[in-house]
This record gives sequence, C-alpha cells and structure tokens, in this order.
Amino acid sequence: MSFKQKVTALILAGGRGTRMGRVDKGLQPFRGATLVSHVMRRLAPQVAALAINANRNLPQYQALFASDPVPVWPDELGGFEGPLAGLQTGLRHCGTELLATAPCDSPFLPADLVERLHAALLADDADLAIAVTMETDQDGRPYRQTHPVFTLMKTAVLAQLNAYLDTGARRLDGWHKAIRVTEVLFDDAAAFRNLNTLGELQHYERAAPEAAPVPTSASVAATAAGCLSAYDPEALSVGDAQRIIADFIEPIQAVERVALRSALDRVLAEDIVSPICVPAHDNSAMDGYALRAADLAADAPTTLRIAGVVYAGRPVETALAPGDCMRIMTGGVMPAGADCVLPQELATAVGATSVTIAPGLLRAGDNRRLRGEDLHTGSPALAKGRIVRPADLGLLASLGIAEVAVRRRLRVAFFSTGDELRSVGDALDPGCVYDSNRYTLYGMLLRLGCDVIDMGVVRDDPAALEAALRSACENADAIVTSGGVSVGAADYTKQIMAALGDVTFWKLNMRPGRPLAFGKIASNGRSAFLFGLPGNPVAVMVSFYCFARAALLRMMGVDAGAAPPLLRARASSAIRKKIGRTEYQRAIVRGGADGAPEVCITGAQGSGILRSMSQANCMVVLHDEQGDVAAGDMVDLMLFDGLV
Ligand code: AMP
Ligand code: MG
Repeated sequence: MSFKQKVTALILAGGRGTRMGRVDKGLQPFRGATLVSHVMRRLAPQVAALAINANRNLPQYQALFASDPVPVWPDELGGFEGPLAGLQTGLRHCGTELLATAPCDSPFLPADLVERLHAALLADDADLAIAVTMETDQDGRPYRQTHPVFTLMKTAVLAQLNAYLDTGARRLDGWHKAIRVTEVLFDDAAAFRNLNTLGELQHYERAAPEAAPVPTSASVAATAAGCLSAYDPEALSVGDAQRIIADFIEPIQAVERVALRSALDRVLAEDIVSPICVPAHDNSAMDGYALRAADLAADAPTTLRIAGVVYAGRPVETALAPGDCMRIMTGGVMPAGADCVLPQELATAVGATSVTIAPGLLRAGDNRRLRGEDLHTGSPALAKGRIVRPADLGLLASLGIAEVAVRRRLRVAFFSTGDELRSVGDALDPGCVYDSNRYTLYGMLLRLGCDVIDMGVVRDDPAALEAALRSACENADAIVTSGGVSVGAADYTKQIMAALGDVTFWKLNMRPGRPLAFGKIASNGRSAFLFGLPGNPVAVMVSFYCFARAALLRMMGVDAGAAPPLLRARASSAIRKKIGRTEYQRAIVRGGADGAPEVCITGAQGSGILRSMSQANCMVVLHDEQGDVAAGDMVDLMLFDGLV
C-alpha cells in the first residue's frame, strides 16, 4: 500500500485571521479561487483524503467543494484556542493512520511535502515530522526556520495531545516537547509563504506565476477542477465582495449617553429591559360601561345600576358590586370585579342611574386592555444594535426612560479626485465638469447618520492624494473617495492607497460600478477603513448603496440582520440583461392598473447619467444568474426611501 493511502490532510482554517482584519482567510479570493482551494489543490495529489478545520462560515466551506464534498470539522474545544484545537479535532475524526497539516493561507506549499515528511517519520521512528527551511536574517546570517503547522503525524499522538491540552496549555512548541519530533529541511523557503494580510494577498495575486510555480501534471489539474470554486479576481461577484467587506469591518466601540429625543436615528448601544408594566393597570379600551360579564343574562336584556364614574388617570377605590356597572372612559382603570366594557354606543337604553344591555353582545375580556399587555416588567423592549426610530422613541418614553446609551457617531471623511473637477461656485473651465459626487455622498452619508468631513476635490497628484488620505485617516473612522480607481493614466489613487495600508482593488462583476477599492489604511498611529468608489456619478451611488452603506452601518454597530429585504414588483416592459453579472437599473415603482406594484426603468442607464438616478425611486436588481427580463416578469428592487 502506498504511504498516501495512510494519510488524511487537514487544512487549518480555524483561526481568527487577526492580521487580515479578522476576515475568514481561507475564503479569501486568490488567483481565481479561494485561498483554501489552492492549498487543497496542492495537497490533494499527496494524500488519500482531505478535510478542513474551520470555526466560522462552515456552510461556505462546505459549499466550496459541492461536487466532491470535503468534510469540515470545527474545533471541539471552542473559543478559537489555536492550531492545537484544530489538530485535536483532526486527529479525532480522520480515521487514517497518519494526519498531515497545512495552513489555509499557504497556496504555494511544496508538491513533495507529505512524501518527504513521511520518509523522515519512518526513518527516525518519530511521532511527528515538521518542515524547516533555511532563511537569512537582516544581516545576511542564515538561520533555521521551523514551519510548525506543516507537519505529518501519527494519529496515535492524540492521547498525548489530549493530555497536554488538559493542562490548559495551548502552545505548539510546548506540545512538541512531549512527543518525538523530527525535522525535514526543504530548499524552497518561498513554498512555505503564508499570506497574512490583504496586501500580501494582493501582491501575490499580481505576482508573475513563475514566482510560485503551480504544478501542471494531469493529476493535479484534474483535482483542481474539482476543487476550484468560481472566484474570478477580474470579475468578483457582488455577493463575494459584500461578504469580504463584512468580514473585514469592525464596529466602533465608543458609547455615549444621550437624552431620549437625541437618540433618534442613533444606534442603540444597550439592551432595553422594561422597568415597569405597560400599561400599569387593566384599563378600558372604550368609552362605555365597565361590568361583570357573568351578570348578563344569556337570552334577555339586562339592566345594571350605574354605581359611579371612572375617568382616565383617576382610579376608583371601590370594587364593583354584583348587578352594578360603572361608567368608564377610555384608559380608565378597570374597577376591581369588572371584566369587560360595553361600548356606550351599544347600550340599548341609558337612564340617569341604570343602563340596559341586549343579550349576546359581550364576553369577559371584551374591550379591556390587560396590565402589561404591551410590555411586562423585566421583558426585553429594544435590542442593542437597532437604529432608534420614532416608534422606539415613543416606546422608550412609555417606559419612563429619559436617557439611553448610543454608539458614538461614525466620522466619515470624503473627497473627490480628478483634475477635471470644479467645485460649485467656481467657473467651469473648458473640458471640466462640476463635482457632483461630493454632494450625493454628502446626502447619503448624512442620511446614514454619520458625522461628515468634506475634504473637497483632490487633484490627480500623488503628493496631494497622499496628504488627503493621511489627513482623512487621522481624523475619521472611514474614508469614502470617488474616482481614480479604474484604469487611467492620471489616476494615482490606487498606488497611494496601496502604499498607505492594506487595500484591495476589485473589478466587480456588476454594472454600473465595476472598479472598487476597499481596505484599511494607517497614518501616524490612526487607521481608517477606505472605500474607493468609482468616479462616474451613477456608479458612485450604486457602489455606495451596494457596499459602503452596509459596511458603514456595521461600523456604526448596527445589527447586520436589520438589512431590509429586496421588494418584488412586476416589470412594465422588457429589460435586456447579460447573464453572469449583477445589474442595477434605475427605475420608478408605482401601483399598476390592478393596484399591484409595477416598476418601469428610467430611460438611458449610462453610468454618467445622474438624471436617471434622480428621477428614480428605486433600483431594479438583476442578479448574476438572471438573463433578459420580459414585460410582466417579477423583478427584485431596492427602494431609495423608507417611511421613516
Ligand atoms: P475616474 O474613475 O476617475 O476615471 O472617473 C470616471 C468618470 O467619472 C470621469 O468621466 C470623471 O470625470 C467622472 N467623475 C469623477 N469624479 C467625479 C465627480 N466627483 N463628479 C462628477 N463626475 C466625476
Ligand atoms: Mg479621475
């Protein structure tokens, strides 16, 4: 039996991805696939079986290799306890005599990794073989670098591993001291390269393929075909970009207490638990007569004596005697003994001291509001992470709450780039256009409840761009720019952005809004998330709504589950659509002839035609897999405005 038959390879993808801004590293797009697919492709020919250790996004990992499913095993220890936790899970589940491991961010790992580790394991009768390479330090001196997660081990080491983990220790090198380890020297240090940051990912994305050759044997190609998912860095899907951004974003934590009215449109930073019962008493929902249902005859009119009057806000001390009723106003506290209210307009006859009621009109509980039916003392009233709406202000007021904790407002700096841009108020020189993006961005950011810093127009000049980006980064939580991220000779934005931090440049599979830059930049110890939106006025708005908006809301601490669903409406006419990309068409939705919502496209859809956006009240979202739409077909749409 070949040694391969004895080996399962476990890809370790269970980390927090801290240095990559907590993205799920294994799922990052890289050279036309996910990172984990590359590792898979390198390992598949070397072993009998593959498995992935992951702790987040398990469904996404499972879905990656749908045609040839690979098991995905989360840590059993829980709580992101490090690679040993992943190893423990792997050893428990693998079912082969040997287990090989490699990290999910090493897409260039050696084609003979497992074979060479196996040879050493046998020759040295070790429990675990580990890869080492020779590297040189800054002064040119050689040193031995161990690669502690590129290993092959006997599955029998599980017992020692369990014992080691039971002591509370979690260090790989600590555990290695407890077993027999042998080292194997590999020549090609570059093959063990880990991609730890979005910047590295992007660097190697673009590096010439020779820098890290990929084996081309038929077997590897065949395996690759089964492993690769549909990532295309030149045409990243809208959904993938949204997911990557969501993974990368971190909410701001600062909280402030504000008076109730000031909480409107802010993000609630605490769970609100009701301190009282609302309403505080059983009370009447109508103007009428409070009575006891049992006093009413089933088949004949009943006359009850009026024993008193209950006004709202003035409870009565006396209980209701049998055969009596009390006149009561809406909101009046139900007298003890009364269990329903006859609305005054339903009384058959009303005298000065009595009221007559027809049979069959009332049951116990009718027209009575129960104490606590809105909220009970101690029950959850509002969850943190929601944007406070007018109804919430009212609800908080009904609980007597005068002040709430909200997240600090997000500070967003924005500017436009381009030598051709002139600001409103300046003369429009030949060949120039007025800068409109700063105004649409201003409006969209303000609507989101951000504090905005308008940095004006920045020329296509490296020094000016760098200064603007640095200043924005030092003063804001997020930066939104427009222009300069597409391919264009005068656009320096990409280079400067990349130099200041960890920024990726995507060509998205969408229209409008194909180019997008996203990442995190730093300057003088401060950092900020960056959204480099395209320059075309429609594209800037569409990309803002599709990517920046949700990310900024997340930074503001808004619960991600609060995103509004897409609505559906009937298309009033045919729409041409190319399969394989997401298209956003500006449109007007209104009630059709039969009253059902009908949507009609607002004329020319060029990405520079801002009028189409201004006329529209929604965007029709035509998804990747969708083709031409016929008149009368149902389509998804995103409304620009809500009620509140
Ligand atoms: P760019 O992405 O910088 O190549 O810009 C693409 C197109 O959008 C060009 O026609 C620009 O003139 C136009 N554009 C860029 N920024 C703005 C802006 N702030 N306002 C209006 N048009 C813009
Ligand atoms: Mg430009």
